[in-house]
Amino acid sequence: MLAELYGEEHHIFRESFRRFVAREVTPHAAAWEEARQVPRDLWLKMGQEGFLCPWVPEEHGGLGLDFLYSLIINEELIRGDGFGVGVPLHSDVASPYLASYGTPQAKERWLPGCVSGEVITAVGFSEPGAGSDLAAIRATALKDGGHYVINGQKTFITNGFVADLVVVACKTDPAAGYSGISLILVDKDAPGFARGQKLHKMGGHMQDTAELFFEDCRVPAWHLLGHEGQGFKYMMEKLQQERLEVCIKCQVMAEECLKEGLNYAKTRQVFGQPVGLHQANAFRLAEMATEVEMGRVFLEALIAAHLAGQDVVQRVSMGKYWLGEMVNRVAYQALQLHGGYGYMEEYRICRLYRDVRALSIFAGTSEIMKLIISRNLGLRG
Ligand SMILES: Cc1cc2nc3c(=O)[nH]c(=O)nc-3n(C[C@H](O)[C@H](O)[C@H](O)COP(=O)(O)OP(=O)(O)OC[C@H]3O[C@@H](n4cnc5c(N)ncnc54)[C@H](O)[C@@H]3O)c2cc1C
Repeated sequence: MLAELYGEEHHIFRESFRRFVAREVTPHAAAWEEARQVPRDLWLKMGQEGFLCPWVPEEHGGLGLDFLYSLIINEELIRGDGFGVGVPLHSDVASPYLASYGTPQAKERWLPGCVSGEVITAVGFSEPGAGSDLAAIRATALKDGGHYVINGQKTFITNGFVADLVVVACKTDPAAGYSGISLILVDKDAPGFARGQKLHKMGGHMQDTAELFFEDCRVPAWHLLGHEGQGFKYMMEKLQQERLEVCIKCQVMAEECLKEGLNYAKTRQVFGQPVGLHQANAFRLAEMATEVEMGRVFLEALIAAHLAGQDVVQRVSMGKYWLGEMVNRVAYQALQLHGGYGYMEEYRICRLYRDVRALSIFAGTSEIMKLIISRNLGLRG
């Protein structure tokens, strides 16, 4: 399906990015996992080669390319052990808020840096007391002359420790629910902005995830994205691509887990034959391969529809739910095929198993996806 949409230039781009990953990411992945950080140098190198925000229009320093380039970058990073590199979140989730709703001044100031790697972005929506229920956020941004004064706390923020610019969800009308939410850009030097330590996570170790603190943090009023009180609407508009980005991660991680499980099952001998030739395991692999294949077909249909500009929120929610659960099932079975070796760090499946666990949680949990899907089934008549 997507094959028809790929042109020669996409293939050339993939080959070039694959070589970049083999040289600049894969050999360093273990050290970055250990350091709980990807060096800024990688961002700058990616920027130099046109691998950050490739969709940004040329007037702002980008290449003006389509979403297939983002897909290629996301896929190849994962295949080359760069699952935790926060680039897809920067390029396809956070920076698009700036491009779509930023003032001309904001776009001129930061978009070229998003492309070059000098400006790393993050989205700060979740709080200690509000994740799924964003109407319950408590961070406030109150107008004071030509500034907003922000108070509150954010948590679980991907790229939070290195980000130069954060899209922060705040209540400009604290008494209102969804309609009181606004999105405001906070840059790293804003007075009153601080970050906590990197959070200790179960997986995604090279990815820095942090808490952010705002104490009478002052930012100029032109940092507001769009209009006051429209923040929730903007989040909903952008969630289609954000969740699609996670769907891609789920699918490619499932493909990698299957690959590891299959390779191991072909080589390890038990009771005189390869693990995979025992019928229980052959059937296990057949089930895994079927789920992975079905996931690929569904994902590609979603991407094609997204590229065509269709509203696929319902199907993206289905994808986020099903693929997020599917990759966890496949990772579990692939590790099981490895026996005790699957539990050892030197086997790739060990890291893959850890890393996939968050995929059914961030960008909306499986339960929240089911909530959205069921609401659209017409149950209320
Ligand atoms: C690795 C990682 C990276 C993240 N990166 C970011 C980021 O960059 N920016 C950001 O803003 N956030 C980020 N998050 C936060 C993430 O989006 C939230 O964790 C997620 O939305 C769930 O919110 P919560 O953790 O507060 O869980 P809760 O909302 O407290 O949910 C707890 C449980 O209750 C369930 N639940 C909630 N409501 C319902 C309901 N109505 N019906 C049934 N069940 C329900 C949930 O599914 C879950 O199982 C990240 C999280 C992780 C783990």
